[in-house]
Amino acid sequence: MAKPTMTSFSSPLSFLPQKWLQATDLPKEVYQHLAGYVPKIYCLGPNLNPTSEDLLAQLLLQAPLEWYLCGEDPLVGLAKLEKNNQPSQLCGHVFKVGEPTYSCRECAADPTCVLCMQCFLGSVHKEHRYRMTTSGGGGFCDCGDTEAWKKGPYCQKHEPNICDSSQEDPLANLSADMIARTYNIFSIMLKYAVDMLTWDKEDELPHGLEPPERGDTYYCMLFNDEVHTYEQVIYTLQKAVNCTQKEAVSFATTVDRDGRKSVRYGDFQFCEQAKSVIVRNTSRQSKPLRVQVMHSSVVAHQCFALKALTWFSHVIRYSDALRRILCQVGLQRGPEGDNSLVDTLMLCDSKMWKGARNVYHQLYMSSLLMDLKYKKLFAIQFAKHYERLQSDYVKDDHDREFSVTDLSVQMFTVPSLARMLITEENLMTTIIRTFVDHLRHRDLQGRFQFERYTAQQAFKFRRVQSLIGDLKYVLISRPTEWTNRLREKFLEGLEAFLELLKCMQGMDPVVRQVGQHIEMEPEWEAAFTLQMKLTHIISMIQEWCASDDRVLIEAYKKCLTVLTHCHSGFADGEQPITLSMCGHSVDTIRYCISQEKVSIHLPVSRLLAGLHVLLSKTEVAYRFPEQLPLSELSPPMLIEHPLRCLVLCAQVHAGMWRRNGFSLVNQIYYYHNVKCRVEMFDKDLMMLQVGASMMDPNHFLMIMLSRFELFHIFSSADCRKRYNRESANKDVVQQNSTLIEEVLHLIMMVVGERFVAGIGQVESCEELKREIIHQLCIRPMAHSELVKALPENENKETGMEKVIDSVASFKKPGVTGRGLYELRPECAKHFNLYFHHYSRADQSKAEEAQRKLKRQNGEDSALLPPSLPQLCPLFASLVNILQCDVLLGMLGAVLQWAMEPSGGHWSESMLQRVLHLIGMALLEEQQQLESTLDDNEVTFSFTLKISRPGEAPSTSPSILAVLETLQNAPHLEVHKDMIRWILKVMSIKTMRERTAAAPPPERAGGWQEEMVRDKDKAERKRKAEMARLRREKIMAQMSEMQKHFINENKELFQQSLEELDASTSASLDPSSWDSVLVCVGPRRWRGGRGERRQVVTCILCQEEQEIRADGRAMVLAAFVQRSTVMSKNRKRPPHDPESYDPIFMHPDLSFGTHTGSCGHIMHSHCWQRYFEAVQAKEQRRQQRLRVHTSYDVENGEFLCPLCECLSNTVIPLLPLTKTSCSNGEQPGLVQWLNTTSQQIKALHSAHRKANEGVEAPPPPEGFRPDHTPINPYSSSIKEMLTTFGTATYKVGLKVHPNEQDPRVPIMCWTSCAYTIQSVERLLVDEQKPLFGSLPCRQDDCLSSLARFGSACWTVSSLATVQSHFIRLLAGTVENSRCILDVDMFHLLVSLVLSYPAVHCQDSSGLSTDIAELHLLHLVTVAHLVQILLTSIPVELTMEQESGGVEHEEESVCLLYNTLRSHIGSCVYEVSSGWHLWRAVKAGILPFLRGAALFFHHLHGVPTPPELNGASEWEVLCAYLSLPSNLLQLFYSYQEVLEPLLQGWCSHPSMRQCLQSPETLISFPRESNKLIELPEDYSALINQASSFTCPKSGGDKSRAPTLCLVCGALLCSQSYCCQTELEGEDVGACTAHTFACGAGVGIFLRVRESQVLFLAGKTKGCFYAPPYLDDYGETDQGLRRGNPLHLCRERYRKIQKLWRQHSITEEIGHAQEANQTLVGIDWQHL
Ligand SMILES: [Zn+2]
Ligand SMILES: [Zn+2]
Ligand SMILES: [Zn+2]
Ligand SMILES: [Zn+2]
Ligand SMILES: [Zn+2]
Ligand SMILES: [Zn+2]
Ligand SMILES: [Zn+2]
Repeated sequence: MAKPTMTSFSSPLSFLPQKWLQATDLPKEVYQHLAGYVPKIYCLGPNLNPTSEDLLAQLLLQAPLEWYLCGEDPLVGLAKLEKNNQPSQLCGHVFKVGEPTYSCRECAADPTCVLCMQCFLGSVHKEHRYRMTTSGGGGFCDCGDTEAWKKGPYCQKHEPNICDSSQEDPLANLSADMIARTYNIFSIMLKYAVDMLTWDKEDELPHGLEPPERGDTYYCMLFNDEVHTYEQVIYTLQKAVNCTQKEAVSFATTVDRDGRKSVRYGDFQFCEQAKSVIVRNTSRQSKPLRVQVMHSSVVAHQCFALKALTWFSHVIRYSDALRRILCQVGLQRGPEGDNSLVDTLMLCDSKMWKGARNVYHQLYMSSLLMDLKYKKLFAIQFAKHYERLQSDYVKDDHDREFSVTDLSVQMFTVPSLARMLITEENLMTTIIRTFVDHLRHRDLQGRFQFERYTAQQAFKFRRVQSLIGDLKYVLISRPTEWTNRLREKFLEGLEAFLELLKCMQGMDPVVRQVGQHIEMEPEWEAAFTLQMKLTHIISMIQEWCASDDRVLIEAYKKCLTVLTHCHSGFADGEQPITLSMCGHSVDTIRYCISQEKVSIHLPVSRLLAGLHVLLSKTEVAYRFPEQLPLSELSPPMLIEHPLRCLVLCAQVHAGMWRRNGFSLVNQIYYYHNVKCRVEMFDKDLMMLQVGASMMDPNHFLMIMLSRFELFHIFSSADCRKRYNRESANKDVVQQNSTLIEEVLHLIMMVVGERFVAGIGQVESCEELKREIIHQLCIRPMAHSELVKALPENENKETGMEKVIDSVASFKKPGVTGRGLYELRPECAKHFNLYFHHYSRADQSKAEEAQRKLKRQNGEDSALLPPSLPQLCPLFASLVNILQCDVLLGMLGAVLQWAMEPSGGHWSESMLQRVLHLIGMALLEEQQQLESTLDDNEVTFSFTLKISRPGEAPSTSPSILAVLETLQNAPHLEVHKDMIRWILKVMSIKTMRERTAAAPPPERAGGWQEEMVRDKDKAERKRKAEMARLRREKIMAQMSEMQKHFINENKELFQQSLEELDASTSASLDPSSWDSVLVCVGPRRWRGGRGERRQVVTCILCQEEQEIRADGRAMVLAAFVQRSTVMSKNRKRPPHDPESYDPIFMHPDLSFGTHTGSCGHIMHSHCWQRYFEAVQAKEQRRQQRLRVHTSYDVENGEFLCPLCECLSNTVIPLLPLTKTSCSNGEQPGLVQWLNTTSQQIKALHSAHRKANEGVEAPPPPEGFRPDHTPINPYSSSIKEMLTTFGTATYKVGLKVHPNEQDPRVPIMCWTSCAYTIQSVERLLVDEQKPLFGSLPCRQDDCLSSLARFGSACWTVSSLATVQSHFIRLLAGTVENSRCILDVDMFHLLVSLVLSYPAVHCQDSSGLSTDIAELHLLHLVTVAHLVQILLTSIPVELTMEQESGGVEHEEESVCLLYNTLRSHIGSCVYEVSSGWHLWRAVKAGILPFLRGAALFFHHLHGVPTPPELNGASEWEVLCAYLSLPSNLLQLFYSYQEVLEPLLQGWCSHPSMRQCLQSPETLISFPRESNKLIELPEDYSALINQASSFTCPKSGGDKSRAPTLCLVCGALLCSQSYCCQTELEGEDVGACTAHTFACGAGVGIFLRVRESQVLFLAGKTKGCFYAPPYLDDYGETDQGLRRGNPLHLCRERYRKIQKLWRQHSITEEIGHAQEANQTLVGIDWQHL
């Protein structure tokens, strides 16, 4: 909403307010005014909402209202109000889409409590463990809400002023008149707005608003729905209203955003016509789009009604008093007690369009929800209408964020309001009843039935789930104090909830499919969705119950009643039978899980199990046993259904339910999954513990065996014999084996799972610790992995932070990977192989890891059961299961079976479980003995029982005896350690019993002396083991190396080459080494007398080949790419490829051509064959299936056959050019220049002659312009020279290949120069020495590039190359170009590489060496001048240090002053020679280093070893044959250079260059960096949240994306910002890369926290962002919300990839590794 115009009000309507003040019927007057003006201002043409409407409305409609309100000029009046304003303590900042929000994991009452960034930064929570998310829009900042925060509810800004009595009535400061006026005008306007927004007639207006005159003007209004797609709407509109696609897109966008948009304006007929077309076109598959033809005056009033609501929002910001009055007006009931205006709006919510809803929701948030008194009143109204609002919402098709029901979070999460609503409005019951009402499909027993849901019902089901969210809000904070009324209402709610659970108990039952596989997978997801959504609610209800004894008791009773009721409901197939075994017998029912119905859903049983444990935990069971119905409990009834469910899982594991398909497998998976298990599997196990603790253990086990359908096996008299004789069916044997394993495991869990407070005597954190320990026993894990493995509470917290450090140590991540938690060694003793939450896969991984650990520690490998905490009294009897007859019978049987080696009827894991159970029993016995003083109290006598042989008549040996036999059985090697341990514990115990007087030994210390004896043996074992491990490690390393040899040791692979090189250089005669190594000029080092042979191996055919000019060509795989990495001017527009003349590179290096290589060498013919094969394969592939590859064959791309590195051409390897050692006297610079200019003249005339036939002056002596030199190269090398030249030309200029183009050689030289420059920069940036630190592949690449450059003229037209040389030289000596516009290094390289084309026609004995030297000198002097002219005076910034080099300083001053005398005031006055010399040295160093690299690779001159030290300068100059005082170059040849200097300085564009500092390049050029990123990631989110799409007028961008190269923010992945590039629609990022990065881009997707690499239009990949949380993990997708901080090393790594030109290569590797990346439409990002 616009701010009030600051011009004072003076309109023709100034009489109005006065008239209104005296009016008797004010509403009538105001309506009259509105009726007259609104249609005159709004909706006068086809376009709604132009700004002029707003201005007019401001002037003619709002201003009178404000005048009336204030009784004076509103500018004055509102300012007065503002002075008395008591701003709300609540921040209430409403979040924009994508804005960062913060919550505190320590202090927030629930996760919906959030702060805006401003408040967060001023709060205490920024020091806490906070969570950061991006808002989806809507919702507001909870700063100042004392109920939202356990601590620190206010930020600094919203800290209440204590001296202000905040309880004061805000109206106290207002005059009675003012109050009355406000009431009047607010009532009228609010009523007007509500009437208009809820108005549903299209052609009429409410009474009093009829326009004075009405024309035949209508709008055809199109409304939004969520059924039709964008495309459908756009297509329909084009047809219906005959608009362009662009207009249609714009209509559709507005409809989507605002909820409606007029698509046509005109007379009724005209609009009606459009409507019928739209309806007809969209009614085919679904209900048609909603369209209305509305009279323009109706639309006009609706527009103004919205304006009026915004006006309210605006005006109440001035004063809390006005806000209070608005609330009163809004909530006032009508005269007959009818709905208030607020109610009316709410109840029409689902009928309004999006835009209107948004506006009034915002008004509610800034008025009702900001006033604490009225928030309560509003909440009551909201609760009263709750059912109706929810039903409307469920029928509506808009997303919840556009529904008024979404406001529930603002009220229900306030604990005091929630509690008030529960007690006063019975909210809990209302929510649950409303929910249940919406799920009408039931089966005969009244259970939910999701199976027959239609699509629409499924849709409804999804929407109705939001009610569970509301229930969660209401329950999220537990009461600290209970009132009777709260108890009553909570229990009423609980009853409703139990009704809901009852409808779930037994739903989706399954029956085992035999014979045929099921035809259709039954629906199961809906039921599990419901279960998952309710999981937290169920847990919270238990916590509420636990907080009050009376509530717990009542809840327990109610739950039991419902369960009993349920139970009587499904009794199918249950007949009583009697089971007898081991002298015990029990009555039970016959129920065969494999034959009858069984359901996984038992929420009532599970809730009861939870409550039962709470009885123990809260000690209610011991304090009020008389109030509990414990005696009514029937343990067999309690365990029946949970047991069936567990048996079902076991049978599924045993493969008995294979024919029931995946739906069952999935259900079993979720049953155990961390998201559901707390209220499913865990509670079923608990219920078995509850039941077993109240039963005779023998009875319990017999029922269990019976349900497992194993009873017949163990009950038979001769069960110790092999039970299988009668059943030959292998499948059945296998099944039974698995079932026995499962039943043994279940027994372990029933006895051993005591880490829940209430079952065992533990603190609640113990459970969590144990969970973490067992996860870490599998392997070290990252924080997020652990979080995923742990159940979260309703606040999305695992509580892990509190305990993690006590069980694990944190290992920080490196530059890759993530931080890991590792189990503390002392915690390994808590490891339990049969931990109940392990899946089978987890179990075997953990077993392996733990055995390995034991081996490494030199311990024996038995994985002993850990010691367990004591059971609580209520569950104490559980231990008796371990020593009951039935179990002993089972154990004995399995052990007996295991005597026979030929297994099949018993399994290793069966035996392992039996041994584990025996171990548990022994430990239990030991523990009991230790904890009781008197031996007579000990009721646990396991040792005794297993030492006793079986009673007659079976007379079987005792378990102990069997164990002793088994100890030596060769087929039980694996279990030997465990059996030995058991026998040892037994013997100690029996020994101790014999010498009863002996004091009890220390726990677990009993077998210590044994251990000592075993120590030597163990030591030897350990040593052998270590040796074995070492051997294994070496073997593994070797195989690993072989495996990754190619990929990871690219450089290593090159070693053969390197060694070869080394050997050749070693064989050189060291005496030929000059005292100084020189790489250029007549004194340059020449490698020995003999020829250097270079022999390489082709990676394709493995043949060796010598590199010779006349030999077969060898090539390097290479990748040429355009580059802007070194650009100093990203604003320079790209060149026109057709007309661009690349001969002089501008010193801003804005576009370059980079060549890189993986260094792999092939025969050219081998490569050609390979490439043809790739092409052919690609063609076939494209025909067959439309898959993309990571490389573009049509563009000449391929992957290196060895390392799969992306390549697009090959560079030929060339031998060093033979240089004739010229003995004759070589000319000085002056003479050389003379000769050369004569030669050039001769060439000119020769070129001309060829064209025109004119006679020429005689050429200089020995120069033969008509001489055609012999091409020294073999045909295959020539071919490769053309190949690489053409590729560089094609890629570098982005043109079609044309080997005849005269620019081909230039592009080759430029690429050579650019690549060397970028390598030089990289070495500086990486702080590496100039020579010796490059990987071989780069060395090879540079040598090949340089040598290629000097040879490429042989395949071009001689005249062309000569004329290039002539132009280049003219650029230096004839001043054809301003020297400030020339990059001197490019010039030097091009001059040197083009010179052979001139020299080849010379036979006078002139050497190329002297020419190179002179060229170097000339260019160096030019560069010196360039530097002096552009150097920024450092005098001001840098103190002069003592100890300069006087001579240098003097001469540099002299030269500088000469320059100043030529140019004048454009050049700064600098008097300090010290500073100038410094600037010169610093400025020219990159050039000299580049030159050294260039000549080194061109001539293969070894490098001076001292180059890296402090004397770099001197050594470098000497290597380049330059004086270390570079100024000498100038003064030695002053007679030629002085005129040159004058020429340079007088170039016409020199002044202009010097006077435009923004484009002037100074030296040294700094290396480009990626942009600075903020330390805290939220700063980026905040920056991006205020970023709006540049194209669609102020809309929020959905995927704001930051260019890391230049810092531009882009609106990515969105239609709005697509542009056309080379005839294709591309997204903002792709378009940006072409301007910013010559096709390569590095971006940060801010919302996703993800780095995006793009190359060209088809290539891209995601890359880990440089932001890590405190646990050393990235958060791609921002799902976890931990605070993220910049990791500089990782950012540097990305920067290095960019500087190395490796982005494209990286994308290639990523795409090869992950084929799904290839299919993404990268160009649309
Ligand atoms: Zn705030
Ligand atoms: Zn605040
Ligand atoms: Zn906090
Ligand atoms: Zn080959
Ligand atoms: Zn390679
Ligand atoms: Zn956009
Ligand atoms: Zn950019």
